[in-house]
Amino acid sequence: MEPKHPWPGFWLDKPYYSLHAYCMHVYHEKLYKIALDAGMTCPGRDGTAGVRGCIFCSSGGSGDFAIPVQGLPIAEQIRQGLALFGEKRTGNRFIAYFQAYTNTYAPVMHLRRLYTQALDAPQIAGISIATRPDCLPPDVLELLSELKQAYPDKFIWIELGLQTIHQKTADYIRRGYTLSCFTDAVAALSQRMIPVIVHIILGLPGESEENMYETVSYLNTLPISGVKIQLLHILRGTDLAEEFLKGNVRVMEADEYIRIVTGALARLSPQTVIHRLTGDGPRRLLLAPLWSLNKRNILNHIHQTMRAGNIWQGKRYGKENHDPGKLHPL
Ligand code: SF4
Repeated sequence: MEPKHPWPGFWLDKPYYSLHAYCMHVYHEKLYKIALDAGMTCPGRDGTAGVRGCIFCSSGGSGDFAIPVQGLPIAEQIRQGLALFGEKRTGNRFIAYFQAYTNTYAPVMHLRRLYTQALDAPQIAGISIATRPDCLPPDVLELLSELKQAYPDKFIWIELGLQTIHQKTADYIRRGYTLSCFTDAVAALSQRMIPVIVHIILGLPGESEENMYETVSYLNTLPISGVKIQLLHILRGTDLAEEFLKGNVRVMEADEYIRIVTGALARLSPQTVIHRLTGDGPRRLLLAPLWSLNKRNILNHIHQTMRAGNIWQGKRYGKENHDPGKLHPL
């Protein structure tokens, strides 16, 4: 008989292990993210590893906020974020998300000030820091360890862009670091018990479905805690937009994305928390695919497709004895 999804209750009736389910288990409430702009740049833009950044990256450094907060102190950005959430029904605690550009790419004293402003805010349950693996030198790793000890009741997550394990694609998108650089950074963070969330993109130019699944399977070999899966989207003003408008690059249709993301989830370890499953392009910048604007619709389709096909996260994951109760600590 065909096996059934083994953990429906633990995953709160979703066919994958969502961040929402994780937060409900650990914090007993949903944690919303307050996106922050710490005024950083990126070695892919300042000439250190390149000048034009990743081919898909917007001028906002993947931090295109509805309400501009650049230049404001972190504590003020958090205050404004809390005020915005105050109008909606949310829980009591939040994640301070250092989102725009490369958020460990500054002198360590400056980083300490930024992170502690967020960690000191009583409503902040923890911070999530988006960065690149080539921007985690020993003094930054030391700082993260020190803050982890100084704030034992709060978490510190690191979000690392990988996008793909395939070097040819990495060169095309101008990622600017090797797979071994990424793997070394994951190992260094894991040694310090700092949870890592990896960003990958499905639908990168030149990649086959099999190539995308190879990236997902590779993640299963690493001590990571979570993954953000994003479909390739085209933002206005990027070099990728130029290639798209010339007809050199295509984006996926909704059905294709749903099929591939479902296959990706089936191959992913059931212990890995899913932080995102769709694109997140701001409406005013998104050139394609426009179907990705309706996130709720896409998520519903993913759920329906997985249920109809009796597919769940990890169904095709190779190892025996996986148990979602044995979590990497996030
Ligand atoms: S590393 Fe991040 S911030 Fe830098 S160019 Fe690439 S996507 Fe943009």
